[in-house]
This record gives sequence, structure tokens and C-alpha cells, in this order.
Amino acid sequence: MTVQLGMPQPREGGPALPDAGMPGVPPRRPSDAPAGLVDRYGRRATDMRLSLTDKCNLRCTYCMPAEGLEWLSRQAVMTAAEIERIVRIGVEQLGVRELRLTGGEPLVRADLVEIIAVIRRNHPQLPISLTTNGVGLDRKAAALKAAGLTRINVSMDSLHEETFTQLTRRPFLDRVLAGIDAARDAGLGPVKINAVLMRGINDHEAPSLLAWAVDRGYELRFIEQMPLDADHGWTRRDMITAAEIRDLLSTEFVLSPDPRARDGAPAERFEVRRRLGPVSGFNAGSGLLSGPLLGTVGIIASVTEPFCSDCRRTRITAEGKIMSCLFSREEFDLLGLLRDGAEDDELARRWQDAMWVKPKAHGMDHVGLDAPDFVQPDRSMSAIGG
Ligand code: SAM
Ligand code: SF4
Repeated sequence: MTVQLGMPQPREGGPALPDAGMPGVPPRRPSDAPAGLVDRYGRRATDMRLSLTDKCNLRCTYCMPAEGLEWLSRQAVMTAAEIERIVRIGVEQLGVRELRLTGGEPLVRADLVEIIAVIRRNHPQLPISLTTNGVGLDRKAAALKAAGLTRINVSMDSLHEETFTQLTRRPFLDRVLAGIDAARDAGLGPVKINAVLMRGINDHEAPSLLAWAVDRGYELRFIEQMPLDADHGWTRRDMITAAEIRDLLSTEFVLSPDPRARDGAPAERFEVRRRLGPVSGFNAGSGLLSGPLLGTVGIIASVTEPFCSDCRRTRITAEGKIMSCLFSREEFDLLGLLRDGAEDDELARRWQDAMWVKPKAHGMDHVGLDAPDFVQPDRSMSAIGG
């Protein structure tokens, strides 16, 4: 039976709901628009990314500032009951087929296990995944698995203590490595590892990160650094592109396209084999001098090879704002409407309206990325939910 913790409160005497098109309220989508979370360009969002908190216990340089960044108040953040209700509307009314919990750092929420357990009870078949920095995961992995978590992604950019500390501004590499192993031991595999390469800091580690991952059966995914850092320090010149990542890996490995369908996944996947012959760039040798299949690697090229036309994501921030795109400069309040006593149908309609106006593309891949036509969103990655 569906558990309904976040039932609407009666609206009598409460504030009137703001009209469509008012600031923070999307315009109404056409009444004959298809069901579900579709947009003007025919894309259908079935993959929900929900942020549980904006707080974090690391301070990755490509995400957060060294100090500062005010946290949301406790009252502003969605409660477990509100999260449960929003997920239920997404799944039962709007065609959400997959849920990823993220942040900030989701493990810092004391009620994380309870949130997963309630969602799992309501939706026995729903794939539920978690993106985490892995700090404290060694103590929680078994409980997360028991609560019904399906998969886990752990972010880890370096295997060297000093470099890890430089990138995250915290000396927690050992704790993250322990968390990754605990996730595997708890049956949350295949564990995916997310890594962002930063020029001159950890880019030389690309092949050793991949060797480490395939040795342990982890699936490594490199993510191109996006202009979503709180310091606004991103530049096109400094970012490591997907093409460079392929070249860096090709010094030691032969990569060949994974024959499995990409199916809307952000990562382009490659099969990985050890290189046994001479090197001269990506795929040089065409696999002729390569060893047996070791595993796969993914590259998420959001900047240089964007996949906007196939995007299936809808995002809810920790304070219950709908973001149709990571780079949206417009966001629409779902939680406020819920707290004002809106019925499920009204909430579903607001969500559909917000997704209808999803931008066609983020525009980051245009030449002249640093030019004024690309405006970095105000929110950093930690405040959106990556
Ligand atoms: N704290 C958790 C973690 O680090 O996995 C979850 C939230 S974090 C924002 C989600 C993912 O976004 C991480 O894999 C992180 O490496 C990635 N990320 C953060 N800032 C980024 C940026 N500017 N460009 C690309 N990826 C970024
Ligand atoms: Fe925290 Fe994740 Fe951002 Fe790093 S990437 S600062 S772990 S939210």
C-alpha cells in the first residue's frame, strides 16, 4: 500500500496560489500537450535528480568556495514527507522511471535511510541511485542497501592523499576509499566512480585512476568540468575536454565504443583493454595490439559534446525548486505550492509547466564560451544537485 506522509493541508485561509507566468511561476503549457514531463522540443523527462541538501563536508574546488556559502535554513529544505510526496507524484502521475538522490552531500542527512526506505516501499520497482562523496559511507552502506538503494556513484578524483586534499580541501581520501569498498561489499555494485580532471592537478592520473577502477570492478566515469563552481573560476582554456581524456587514457589503454545502446545516458561508454603496442593518440592501433576486455569507462562530455537533444532529466533542488536543466537561470517553486496546500494534481501541473519551458540546449559548446552570451547560473553545483 502506498505510504502518504506528505498529505496536503487544507488551504482555507492560506495564501492564494500565484498565477501562471508570475515571477517564479511558469506559463501554462498548452492543454493539448502530451502527458508526462514533456517539453516544447518533444523530449520526455523520466529521470529525476532530487537534491536532499545543499550542505557538504567537502569543499571541492570546482564546486564550492573555500569558505562561506550560506546553507539553507532547516525549514527551507524539503522534509522526508515532502520528498516522499513529490517522488510519488513524479512516479505515479508524470512518468518518472528512475530516481537519483544527490546534493550537496546526501550522506549528511540523518534521515537518508528512512527517505530511501519509504520511497522503496511505495515504488518497489523504481531504480533508486545515490551520488555521494563517500565520506561516512563505510558506516552506512549496508543500511542503505537494506533500505532499498539500487546503485551508488562515489566521487573520487585522485588516489594521492595530497592531490585529493588539494582538490577537496579536506584530508579524507582514506575515508572515501573505505566507503567505496563498503558499498561494493554491501552489494551496491557495480559501483560507479565519478572523477573530474583539473589541468595540472590530477589530469596525469587519468590512466592510473582507470587501472585502479578496472582492477576492482568499479566503473569509472570522467565528467568534464562545467562552469558551475561557486568561485566562477572555470575557463574553457583550463578545462580538460573529452577528447583530451580519451588521449590521456590511450597512453595505456585501447578504448572502443561500448556496443550497448547509450539510451539517453549522459556518459559515452567505452570498452577498456590494456594497450600492448605503440601509442599515437586515441584508438591508435584499432585494438590490434590490445589485451582482453577489462571493463568499461564512461566520459560525460557536457561541455564539448553535449547531449541536450536527448536529455531526460528533471531536477528538484533541496528547497523544492524545479530546474529543467543544470544551467537553467529560471527555477520554479514546487515546495511552496505544496506547503500552501496544493493538491497532487496542481503540483503535477506546475511541474509539467516548468518542464515545458526547458531550454533547447545550454549553449556552453558554442565557440566563445567565455564570451558574455553564456551566463553562468547563480547556483553552484552543490546548491543545484549534480
Ligand atoms: N556530494 C556528492 C558528490 O560529490 O558526489 C553529490 C553532489 S556533487 C554536486 C555531484 C557530482 O557533481 C560529483 O560527481 C561532482 O564531481 C560533480 N561536480 C561538481 N561540480 C562540478 C563541476 N563544476 N563540473 C563537473 N562536475 C561537477
Ligand atoms: Fe561537496 Fe560533491 Fe560539491 Fe564536492 S562535488 S563540494 S563533495 S557537493
